[in-house]
Amino acid sequence: MINNTKISFEDTSVAFSSKSDKELRRSYTLFAVMDKNLIVKLGTIFVNAALKLKLPVKKLIKSNLFDHFCGGESITDSEKTVQELARFKIGTILDYAVEGENNEGAYDHTAEEIIRTIHRAKGDPNIPFCVFKPTGIASKDLLEKIQLGQPLTVDENKAFENIRKRWDKVCGESFKNDVKIFIDSEDSYIQDPIDELAYQLMEKYNKEKTIVWNTYQLYRVGMIEKLDEALTQARKKGYYFGVKLVRGAYMENERERAEEKGYPDPIQPDKQSTDQSYNNALKFCIENTDLVSVCSGSHNEDSNYYLVELMKLNNMDNNDQRVYFAQLYGMSDHISFNLAKAGYNVIKYVPYGPVGTVVPYLMRRAEENTSIAGQSSREFSLIKKEIKRRKLFKSK
Ligand SMILES: Cc1cc2nc3c(=O)[nH]c(=O)nc-3n(C[C@H](O)[C@H](O)[C@H](O)COP(=O)(O)OP(=O)(O)OC[C@H]3O[C@@H](n4cnc5c(N)ncnc54)[C@H](O)[C@@H]3O)c2cc1C
Repeated sequence: MINNTKISFEDTSVAFSSKSDKELRRSYTLFAVMDKNLIVKLGTIFVNAALKLKLPVKKLIKSNLFDHFCGGESITDSEKTVQELARFKIGTILDYAVEGENNEGAYDHTAEEIIRTIHRAKGDPNIPFCVFKPTGIASKDLLEKIQLGQPLTVDENKAFENIRKRWDKVCGESFKNDVKIFIDSEDSYIQDPIDELAYQLMEKYNKEKTIVWNTYQLYRVGMIEKLDEALTQARKKGYYFGVKLVRGAYMENERERAEEKGYPDPIQPDKQSTDQSYNNALKFCIENTDLVSVCSGSHNEDSNYYLVELMKLNNMDNNDQRVYFAQLYGMSDHISFNLAKAGYNVIKYVPYGPVGTVVPYLMRRAEENTSIAGQSSREFSLIKKEIKRRKLFKSK
Protein backbone atom coordinates (compact mmCIF):
# COMPACT_ATOMS: atom_id res chain seq x y z
CA MET A 1 0.00 0.00 0.00
CA ILE A 2 1.36 3.41 -0.95
CA ASN A 3 2.03 5.90 1.77
CA ASN A 4 3.72 8.80 0.08
CA THR A 5 0.81 10.36 -1.78
CA LYS A 6 0.94 14.13 -1.66
CA ILE A 7 -2.53 14.93 -0.47
CA SER A 8 -4.24 18.21 -1.40
CA PHE A 9 -7.78 19.28 -0.60
CA GLU A 10 -7.67 22.00 -3.24
CA ASP A 11 -8.61 19.73 -6.14
CA THR A 12 -12.30 20.56 -6.66
CA SER A 13 -12.52 18.33 -9.74
CA VAL A 14 -12.06 15.35 -7.38
CA ALA A 15 -14.14 16.91 -4.60
CA PHE A 16 -17.22 17.31 -6.80
CA SER A 17 -16.65 14.36 -9.13
CA SER A 18 -19.94 12.79 -8.07
CA LYS A 19 -21.96 15.91 -8.91
CA SER A 20 -23.47 16.68 -12.31
CA ASP A 21 -23.53 20.31 -13.48
CA LYS A 22 -27.19 20.50 -12.49
CA GLU A 23 -26.49 19.18 -8.99
CA LEU A 24 -23.60 21.56 -8.58
CA ARG A 25 -25.77 24.52 -9.58
CA ARG A 26 -28.37 23.39 -7.02
CA SER A 27 -25.69 23.24 -4.31
CA TYR A 28 -24.56 26.72 -5.36
CA THR A 29 -28.04 28.14 -4.85
CA LEU A 30 -28.40 26.44 -1.46
CA PHE A 31 -25.03 27.63 -0.16
CA ALA A 32 -25.58 31.15 -1.57
CA VAL A 33 -28.69 31.37 0.62
CA MET A 34 -26.99 29.82 3.66
CA ASP A 35 -24.11 32.27 3.24
CA LYS A 36 -26.39 35.06 4.46
CA ASN A 37 -26.39 35.02 8.27
CA LEU A 38 -29.61 36.99 8.57
CA ILE A 39 -31.52 34.75 6.17
CA VAL A 40 -30.43 31.65 8.10
CA LYS A 41 -31.44 33.22 11.43
CA LEU A 42 -34.86 34.31 10.13
CA GLY A 43 -35.26 31.05 8.19
CA THR A 44 -34.64 29.00 11.35
CA ILE A 45 -37.31 30.94 13.25
CA PHE A 46 -39.73 30.68 10.32
CA VAL A 47 -39.23 26.91 9.82
CA ASN A 48 -39.65 26.11 13.51
CA ALA A 49 -42.79 28.25 13.74
CA ALA A 50 -44.21 26.83 10.50
CA LEU A 51 -43.69 23.24 11.69
CA LYS A 52 -45.39 24.00 15.01
CA LEU A 53 -48.32 25.58 13.17
CA LYS A 54 -48.38 22.58 10.81
CA LEU A 55 -47.92 24.80 7.76
CA PRO A 56 -46.95 22.88 4.58
CA VAL A 57 -43.19 23.63 4.59
CA LYS A 58 -41.92 20.05 4.46
CA LYS A 59 -41.81 20.03 0.67
CA LEU A 60 -39.72 23.19 0.68
CA ILE A 61 -37.27 21.74 3.24
CA LYS A 62 -37.15 18.42 1.42
CA SER A 63 -36.10 19.84 -1.93
CA ASN A 64 -33.39 22.04 -0.42
CA LEU A 65 -31.64 21.38 2.91
CA PHE A 66 -32.92 17.83 3.31
CA ASP A 67 -31.86 16.54 -0.10
CA HIS A 68 -28.42 18.09 0.30
CA PHE A 69 -27.65 16.90 3.84
CA CYS A 70 -29.69 13.69 4.20
CA GLY A 71 -29.82 10.30 2.50
CA GLY A 72 -33.61 10.07 2.58
CA GLU A 73 -36.51 9.38 4.91
CA SER A 74 -35.67 5.71 5.50
CA ILE A 75 -32.86 3.17 5.13
CA THR A 76 -34.27 2.08 1.77
CA ASP A 77 -34.44 5.70 0.63
CA SER A 78 -30.76 6.15 1.51
CA GLU A 79 -29.52 3.22 -0.62
CA LYS A 80 -28.82 5.48 -3.60
CA THR A 81 -26.50 7.61 -1.46
CA VAL A 82 -24.73 4.54 -0.05
CA GLN A 83 -24.00 3.32 -3.59
CA GLU A 84 -23.01 6.75 -4.85
CA LEU A 85 -20.45 7.19 -2.05
CA ALA A 86 -19.22 3.62 -2.49
CA ARG A 87 -18.41 4.39 -6.14
CA PHE A 88 -15.79 6.80 -4.78
CA LYS A 89 -14.59 4.38 -2.05
CA ILE A 90 -16.33 6.29 0.72
CA GLY A 91 -18.15 4.35 3.42
CA THR A 92 -21.56 5.32 4.80
CA ILE A 93 -22.70 5.56 8.40
CA LEU A 94 -26.49 5.38 8.41
CA ASP A 95 -27.46 7.92 11.06
CA TYR A 96 -31.08 7.84 12.21
CA ALA A 97 -31.24 11.56 12.91
CA VAL A 98 -34.60 11.95 14.61
CA GLU A 99 -34.36 14.28 17.61
CA GLY A 100 -36.59 15.50 20.40
CA GLU A 101 -38.83 12.52 21.19
CA ASN A 102 -38.46 11.86 24.89
CA ASN A 103 -40.33 8.87 26.23
CA GLU A 104 -39.65 5.18 26.82
CA GLY A 105 -41.68 4.16 23.74
CA ALA A 106 -39.71 6.53 21.50
CA TYR A 107 -36.38 5.27 22.93
CA ASP A 108 -37.37 1.67 22.22
CA HIS A 109 -38.52 2.59 18.73
CA THR A 110 -35.24 4.41 18.01
CA ALA A 111 -33.19 1.48 19.37
CA GLU A 112 -35.08 -0.87 17.02
CA GLU A 113 -34.34 1.44 14.08
CA ILE A 114 -30.63 1.53 14.99
CA ILE A 115 -30.64 -2.26 15.06
CA ARG A 116 -32.15 -2.20 11.56
CA THR A 117 -29.15 -0.09 10.43
CA ILE A 118 -26.84 -2.73 11.97
CA HIS A 119 -28.62 -5.52 10.11
CA ARG A 120 -28.37 -3.52 6.88
CA ALA A 121 -24.63 -2.93 7.48
CA LYS A 122 -23.86 -6.58 8.23
CA GLY A 123 -21.32 -7.95 5.74
CA ASP A 124 -21.36 -4.77 3.64
CA PRO A 125 -17.95 -3.06 3.45
CA ASN A 126 -19.71 0.06 2.18
CA ILE A 127 -21.32 0.56 5.62
CA PRO A 128 -18.48 -0.13 8.06
CA PHE A 129 -20.02 1.69 11.05
CA CYS A 130 -23.37 2.38 12.66
CA VAL A 131 -24.06 5.07 15.25
CA PHE A 132 -26.38 6.19 17.99
CA LYS A 133 -26.95 9.49 19.76
CA PRO A 134 -27.21 8.79 23.52
CA THR A 135 -30.33 10.90 24.11
CA GLY A 136 -32.05 9.16 21.20
CA ILE A 137 -32.27 6.08 23.41
CA ALA A 138 -31.92 7.49 26.96
CA SER A 139 -33.57 10.25 28.95
CA LYS A 140 -31.41 13.37 29.17
CA ASP A 141 -32.97 14.41 32.49
CA LEU A 142 -32.15 11.05 33.99
CA LEU A 143 -28.55 11.11 32.74
CA GLU A 144 -28.17 14.58 34.21
CA LYS A 145 -29.49 13.43 37.57
CA ILE A 146 -27.06 10.51 37.59
CA GLN A 147 -24.14 12.78 36.76
CA LEU A 148 -25.12 15.07 39.64
CA GLY A 149 -25.11 12.06 41.96
CA GLN A 150 -28.73 12.70 43.00
CA PRO A 151 -30.68 9.77 44.47
CA LEU A 152 -32.98 8.04 41.98
CA THR A 153 -36.61 7.08 42.59
CA VAL A 154 -37.73 3.47 42.05
CA ASP A 155 -39.09 4.40 38.61
CA GLU A 156 -35.89 6.21 37.68
CA ASN A 157 -33.81 3.21 38.72
CA LYS A 158 -36.00 1.09 36.48
CA ALA A 159 -35.59 3.57 33.62
CA PHE A 160 -31.79 3.49 34.08
CA GLU A 161 -31.86 -0.30 33.96
CA ASN A 162 -33.79 0.01 30.68
CA ILE A 163 -31.10 2.32 29.32
CA ARG A 164 -28.43 -0.27 30.15
CA LYS A 165 -30.46 -3.03 28.50
CA ARG A 166 -31.19 -0.93 25.40
CA TRP A 167 -27.56 0.09 24.92
CA ASP A 168 -26.42 -3.45 25.56
CA LYS A 169 -28.88 -4.75 22.98
CA VAL A 170 -27.65 -2.29 20.34
CA CYS A 171 -23.94 -2.97 21.02
CA GLY A 172 -24.60 -6.71 21.33
CA GLU A 173 -26.19 -6.69 17.85
CA SER A 174 -23.15 -4.81 16.55
CA PHE A 175 -20.88 -7.43 18.08
CA LYS A 176 -22.93 -10.35 16.72
CA ASN A 177 -23.03 -8.87 13.23
CA ASP A 178 -19.44 -7.59 13.26
CA VAL A 179 -20.38 -3.97 12.64
CA LYS A 180 -18.51 -1.18 14.44
CA ILE A 181 -20.66 1.27 16.39
CA PHE A 182 -20.08 4.89 17.43
CA ILE A 183 -21.61 6.33 20.57
CA ASP A 184 -21.97 10.06 19.84
CA SER A 185 -21.27 12.65 22.51
CA GLU A 186 -23.55 15.46 23.59
CA ASP A 187 -23.64 17.95 26.49
CA SER A 188 -20.88 17.82 29.12
CA TYR A 189 -23.41 17.69 31.97
CA ILE A 190 -24.62 14.23 30.88
CA GLN A 191 -21.35 12.85 29.53
CA ASP A 192 -20.00 11.05 32.65
CA PRO A 193 -22.66 8.31 32.75
CA ILE A 194 -22.42 7.99 28.96
CA ASP A 195 -18.65 7.41 29.23
CA GLU A 196 -19.17 4.94 32.05
CA LEU A 197 -21.69 2.91 30.05
CA ALA A 198 -19.44 3.09 26.97
CA TYR A 199 -16.49 1.66 28.93
CA GLN A 200 -18.61 -1.19 30.31
CA LEU A 201 -19.74 -2.01 26.77
CA MET A 202 -16.17 -1.84 25.46
CA GLU A 203 -15.07 -4.21 28.19
CA LYS A 204 -17.81 -6.61 27.16
CA TYR A 205 -17.54 -6.37 23.35
CA ASN A 206 -14.02 -5.09 22.50
CA LYS A 207 -11.95 -8.01 23.81
CA GLU A 208 -11.05 -9.31 20.34
CA LYS A 209 -11.55 -6.27 18.12
CA THR A 210 -12.81 -2.70 18.28
CA ILE A 211 -16.59 -2.84 18.03
CA VAL A 212 -17.72 -0.06 20.41
CA TRP A 213 -16.28 3.44 19.90
CA ASN A 214 -16.83 6.35 22.30
CA THR A 215 -16.67 10.04 21.30
CA TYR A 216 -14.41 12.75 22.80
CA GLN A 217 -15.08 16.47 22.32
CA LEU A 218 -11.80 18.31 22.27
CA TYR A 219 -13.39 21.72 22.85
CA ARG A 220 -13.77 20.59 26.45
CA VAL A 221 -10.95 21.21 28.89
CA GLY A 222 -9.12 18.20 30.33
CA MET A 223 -9.87 15.83 27.48
CA ILE A 224 -6.31 14.55 26.92
CA GLU A 225 -6.24 13.51 30.57
CA LYS A 226 -9.62 11.82 30.10
CA LEU A 227 -8.32 9.91 27.08
CA ASP A 228 -5.22 8.91 29.01
CA GLU A 229 -7.28 7.60 31.95
CA ALA A 230 -9.58 5.68 29.60
CA LEU A 231 -6.61 4.08 27.86
CA THR A 232 -5.09 3.08 31.20
CA GLN A 233 -8.40 1.38 32.10
CA ALA A 234 -8.50 -0.38 28.71
CA ARG A 235 -4.93 -1.67 29.27
CA LYS A 236 -5.71 -2.85 32.76
CA LYS A 237 -8.92 -4.61 31.78
CA GLY A 238 -7.60 -5.87 28.44
CA TYR A 239 -9.90 -4.46 25.76
CA TYR A 240 -9.50 -2.44 22.55
CA PHE A 241 -10.22 1.26 22.83
CA GLY A 242 -12.31 2.81 20.03
CA VAL A 243 -12.03 6.60 19.89
CA LYS A 244 -13.97 9.08 17.78
CA LEU A 245 -12.52 12.58 18.08
CA VAL A 246 -14.59 15.69 17.36
CA ARG A 247 -14.20 19.33 18.33
CA GLY A 248 -17.78 19.49 19.65
CA ALA A 249 -21.07 20.91 18.47
CA TYR A 250 -22.68 22.52 21.53
CA MET A 251 -20.26 25.30 22.48
CA GLU A 252 -22.74 28.18 22.80
CA ASN A 253 -25.14 26.15 24.94
CA GLU A 254 -22.29 24.93 27.15
CA ARG A 255 -20.96 28.44 27.77
CA GLU A 256 -24.44 29.92 28.38
CA ARG A 257 -25.41 27.17 30.80
CA ALA A 258 -22.15 27.45 32.77
CA GLU A 259 -22.66 31.19 33.13
CA GLU A 260 -26.31 30.85 34.06
CA LYS A 261 -25.65 28.17 36.70
CA GLY A 262 -22.39 29.69 37.94
CA TYR A 263 -19.93 26.84 37.34
CA PRO A 264 -16.60 27.06 35.44
CA ASP A 265 -16.92 27.13 31.66
CA PRO A 266 -16.13 23.54 30.50
CA ILE A 267 -15.01 24.77 27.05
CA GLN A 268 -11.48 25.74 25.99
CA PRO A 269 -10.86 29.49 26.23
CA ASP A 270 -10.48 30.01 22.48
CA LYS A 271 -10.50 28.31 19.09
CA GLN A 272 -6.72 27.97 19.01
CA SER A 273 -6.71 25.99 22.27
CA THR A 274 -9.42 23.67 20.88
CA ASP A 275 -7.40 23.17 17.68
CA GLN A 276 -4.23 22.44 19.66
CA SER A 277 -6.06 20.02 21.93
CA TYR A 278 -7.63 18.25 18.92
CA ASN A 279 -4.25 17.74 17.27
CA ASN A 280 -2.71 16.57 20.57
CA ALA A 281 -5.49 13.99 20.81
CA LEU A 282 -4.78 12.76 17.27
CA LYS A 283 -1.11 12.36 18.21
CA PHE A 284 -2.02 10.57 21.43
CA CYS A 285 -4.19 8.08 19.51
CA ILE A 286 -1.68 7.42 16.75
CA GLU A 287 1.05 6.82 19.32
CA ASN A 288 -1.08 4.17 21.05
CA THR A 289 -2.40 2.15 18.15
CA ASP A 290 -1.47 -1.10 19.88
CA LEU A 291 -4.88 -0.69 21.60
CA VAL A 292 -6.41 2.47 20.14
CA SER A 293 -8.35 2.79 16.90
CA VAL A 294 -9.22 6.35 15.98
CA CYS A 295 -11.78 8.10 13.83
CA SER A 296 -11.23 11.80 13.25
CA GLY A 297 -14.64 13.46 12.73
CA SER A 298 -13.60 16.81 11.37
CA HIS A 299 -14.01 19.28 8.52
CA ASN A 300 -10.88 21.14 9.56
CA GLU A 301 -8.30 20.89 6.78
CA ASP A 302 -5.27 21.35 9.06
CA SER A 303 -6.35 18.52 11.36
CA ASN A 304 -6.94 16.24 8.39
CA TYR A 305 -3.52 17.10 6.91
CA TYR A 306 -2.01 16.57 10.36
CA LEU A 307 -3.48 13.09 10.71
CA VAL A 308 -2.11 12.17 7.27
CA GLU A 309 1.29 13.44 8.43
CA LEU A 310 1.12 11.49 11.71
CA MET A 311 0.33 8.30 9.82
CA LYS A 312 3.33 8.86 7.58
CA LEU A 313 5.62 9.57 10.52
CA ASN A 314 4.50 6.32 12.13
CA ASN A 315 4.95 4.31 8.91
CA MET A 316 1.29 3.40 8.70
CA ASP A 317 -0.40 2.34 5.49
CA ASN A 318 -2.93 4.85 4.15
CA ASN A 319 -5.67 2.28 4.61
CA ASP A 320 -4.60 1.08 8.08
CA GLN A 321 -7.76 -0.34 9.64
CA ARG A 322 -7.14 1.52 12.91
CA VAL A 323 -7.58 4.96 11.36
CA TYR A 324 -10.70 6.54 9.82
CA PHE A 325 -11.43 10.01 8.51
CA ALA A 326 -15.08 11.05 8.83
CA GLN A 327 -17.17 13.93 7.55
CA LEU A 328 -20.88 14.68 7.35
CA TYR A 329 -22.82 14.03 4.13
CA GLY A 330 -23.21 17.24 2.14
CA MET A 331 -20.13 18.84 3.71
CA SER A 332 -16.39 18.93 3.01
CA ASP A 333 -16.41 16.69 -0.03
CA HIS A 334 -13.06 18.29 -0.93
CA ILE A 335 -11.61 16.51 2.12
CA SER A 336 -13.53 13.23 1.84
CA PHE A 337 -13.12 12.63 -1.89
CA ASN A 338 -9.44 13.61 -2.04
CA LEU A 339 -8.57 11.42 0.98
CA ALA A 340 -10.53 8.47 -0.42
CA LYS A 341 -8.82 8.85 -3.80
CA ALA A 342 -5.45 8.61 -2.01
CA GLY A 343 -6.52 5.34 -0.36
CA TYR A 344 -7.36 6.49 3.19
CA ASN A 345 -10.38 5.05 5.02
CA VAL A 346 -13.10 7.66 4.64
CA ILE A 347 -16.64 7.49 5.97
CA LYS A 348 -19.54 9.91 5.94
CA TYR A 349 -22.48 10.23 8.34
CA VAL A 350 -25.58 9.96 6.16
CA PRO A 351 -28.49 11.16 8.28
CA TYR A 352 -31.96 9.96 7.47
CA GLY A 353 -35.46 10.13 8.95
CA PRO A 354 -38.85 11.72 8.28
CA VAL A 355 -38.36 15.31 7.04
CA GLY A 356 -40.13 17.02 9.95
CA THR A 357 -38.12 15.18 12.60
CA VAL A 358 -34.61 15.88 11.29
CA VAL A 359 -35.11 19.66 11.24
CA PRO A 360 -32.94 20.38 14.35
CA TYR A 361 -30.08 18.54 12.61
CA LEU A 362 -30.63 20.52 9.40
CA MET A 363 -30.75 23.83 11.27
CA ARG A 364 -27.36 23.08 12.88
CA ARG A 365 -25.88 22.41 9.43
CA ALA A 366 -27.39 25.64 8.03
CA GLU A 367 -25.92 27.65 10.90
CA GLU A 368 -22.49 26.02 10.45
CA ASN A 369 -22.48 27.13 6.82
CA THR A 370 -23.25 30.81 7.29
CA SER A 371 -20.55 33.31 6.38
CA ILE A 372 -18.09 34.23 9.10
CA ALA A 373 -16.77 37.77 9.38
CA GLY A 374 -18.13 38.66 5.97
CA GLN A 375 -16.30 35.85 4.18
CA SER A 376 -18.00 33.05 2.29
CA SER A 377 -18.10 29.72 4.05
CA ARG A 378 -15.31 27.40 2.85
CA GLU A 379 -17.90 25.13 1.30
CA PHE A 380 -19.45 27.92 -0.77
CA SER A 381 -16.02 29.12 -1.97
CA LEU A 382 -15.18 25.63 -3.21
CA ILE A 383 -18.49 25.26 -5.05
CA LYS A 384 -17.85 28.61 -6.74
CA LYS A 385 -14.33 27.50 -7.64
CA GLU A 386 -15.60 24.29 -9.24
CA ILE A 387 -18.36 26.10 -11.15
CA LYS A 388 -15.73 28.44 -12.52
CA ARG A 389 -13.44 25.54 -13.39
CA ARG A 390 -16.18 23.69 -15.28
CA LYS A 391 -17.14 26.78 -17.25
CA LEU A 392 -13.48 27.38 -18.14
CA PHE A 393 -13.20 23.77 -19.18
CA LYS A 394 -16.27 24.05 -21.44
CA SER A 395 -15.10 27.26 -23.08
CA LYS A 396 -11.78 25.72 -24.21
C1 LIG B 1 -18.25 12.40 11.49
C2 LIG B 1 -18.62 13.42 12.51
C3 LIG B 1 -19.17 13.01 13.72
C4 LIG B 1 -19.51 13.96 14.68
N1 LIG B 1 -19.99 13.55 15.90
C5 LIG B 1 -20.18 14.47 16.89
C6 LIG B 1 -20.52 14.09 18.20
O1 LIG B 1 -20.69 12.90 18.49
N2 LIG B 1 -20.67 15.06 19.14
C7 LIG B 1 -20.47 16.40 18.85
O2 LIG B 1 -20.57 17.24 19.75
N3 LIG B 1 -20.18 16.79 17.60
C8 LIG B 1 -20.03 15.87 16.62
N4 LIG B 1 -19.68 16.27 15.37
C9 LIG B 1 -19.74 17.69 15.03
C10 LIG B 1 -18.43 18.33 15.28
O3 LIG B 1 -18.25 18.55 16.66
C11 LIG B 1 -18.43 19.65 14.51
O4 LIG B 1 -18.54 19.31 13.15
C12 LIG B 1 -17.16 20.30 14.76
O5 LIG B 1 -17.22 20.97 15.99
C13 LIG B 1 -16.73 21.26 13.72
O6 LIG B 1 -15.34 21.29 13.91
P1 LIG B 1 -14.28 20.84 12.86
O7 LIG B 1 -13.37 19.83 13.45
O8 LIG B 1 -14.94 20.48 11.61
O9 LIG B 1 -13.36 22.16 12.70
P2 LIG B 1 -13.56 23.69 12.72
O10 LIG B 1 -14.69 24.08 11.85
O11 LIG B 1 -12.22 24.25 12.47
O12 LIG B 1 -13.91 24.04 14.22
C14 LIG B 1 -15.11 24.56 14.68
C15 LIG B 1 -15.25 24.11 16.08
O13 LIG B 1 -14.19 24.62 16.90
C16 LIG B 1 -14.66 24.86 18.22
N5 LIG B 1 -14.57 26.30 18.49
C17 LIG B 1 -14.96 27.33 17.68
N6 LIG B 1 -14.75 28.52 18.27
C18 LIG B 1 -14.24 28.26 19.48
C19 LIG B 1 -13.86 29.08 20.57
N7 LIG B 1 -13.96 30.41 20.54
N8 LIG B 1 -13.38 28.49 21.69
C20 LIG B 1 -13.25 27.13 21.77
N9 LIG B 1 -13.60 26.30 20.77
C21 LIG B 1 -14.10 26.85 19.64
C22 LIG B 1 -16.11 24.39 18.23
O14 LIG B 1 -16.14 23.03 18.61
C23 LIG B 1 -16.52 24.55 16.79
O15 LIG B 1 -17.62 23.71 16.44
C24 LIG B 1 -19.34 15.33 14.40
C25 LIG B 1 -18.77 15.74 13.18
C26 LIG B 1 -18.40 14.81 12.25
C27 LIG B 1 -17.79 15.28 10.98
